[in-house]
Amino acid sequence: MFTHTPVDHIDFNGCRVFVKRDDLLHKDFSGNKARKFAYFLHNDFPGVSRLVGYGSPVANSLHSMSALAILKGWQLDFYTDHIAAQVLVSSKGNYAAAIENGANVIDLSLVADRDGRSCKEYIEQVVLPNDATALYVPEGGRCLYARDGVHQLAKEIVSWFETRQLNELTVFLPSGTGTTAVFLNEYFVLNKDSIKVTTCACVGDEDYLKQQFSELISDTSFHPKIVSTDKKYHFGKLYKAFYDIWRKVGEQGIEFELLYDPKGWMCVEQYLLDNPDTEILYIHQGGLLGNATMLPRYQRKYAAV
Ligand SMILES: *Cc1c(COP(=O)(O)O)cnc(C)c1O
Repeated sequence: MFTHTPVDHIDFNGCRVFVKRDDLLHKDFSGNKARKFAYFLHNDFPGVSRLVGYGSPVANSLHSMSALAILKGWQLDFYTDHIAAQVLVSSKGNYAAAIENGANVIDLSLVADRDGRSCKEYIEQVVLPNDATALYVPEGGRCLYARDGVHQLAKEIVSWFETRQLNELTVFLPSGTGTTAVFLNEYFVLNKDSIKVTTCACVGDEDYLKQQFSELISDTSFHPKIVSTDKKYHFGKLYKAFYDIWRKVGEQGIEFELLYDPKGWMCVEQYLLDNPDTEILYIHQGGLLGNATMLPRYQRKYAAV
């Protein structure tokens, strides 16, 4: 269940780029978070009745955790620093879909016993000690549990690679916490060294991403290659260059998301200029629900251009 997505290809600047369609994993439980949370789906957790997490109220992980909670028959308690007014009233996007799934999203700025704690501290100091039925997932699924589902993704890529009889392959995906990229590359280093992972940092800079890799796997020989753009881009901000490349790629018939994929495709563009003869498999990590809130912002900002 929730595995074996197809591989398509698109024409990008005259080059063929393969696309692993993890956006098609499942209607409600798809993409990157579904891979990272697969361990929770496929294992039993006796005594657990509550899933606890935290992060942005517009994050893909909120929606994916709400879908996981439904599949497991759990309640989801999701802690967040603040919920913006326009997020609260919107009927679209990750927050609205999670609420529809029955998620309990807690705005910590309204909680009386917060005492200046971060979401993580609040969960660790206040929530978990009082609740033996809670299962806690760190922000964005950045944990060793994610290895299981990501290695499954790696196995699918290896079997596709062998069927296509390719000699070498670069697997490209944009990173947030880097969890997906580092566990993917770990699998290939151990099992298939003709496949290599290249990624870029979307949240924070390259040093931050390396640090994130190291927290999960200290041996740097397992770490993926990181490429970067000339210009710095801040996560969650709108850039005309992002909107342009998003539309260009979208014209090839596959819709990508607007937070990570624009920078991802900009890096692929540069990578193909530097390495014109490489075969690239881009991982579509889902997240399309977020476009319902991101796209109107882009359309308003760049309506005239
Ligand atoms: C969460 C997410 C990422 C980042 O994944 P990491 O494993 O944290 O690097 C990338 N793309 C999409 C669509 C996501 O939802």
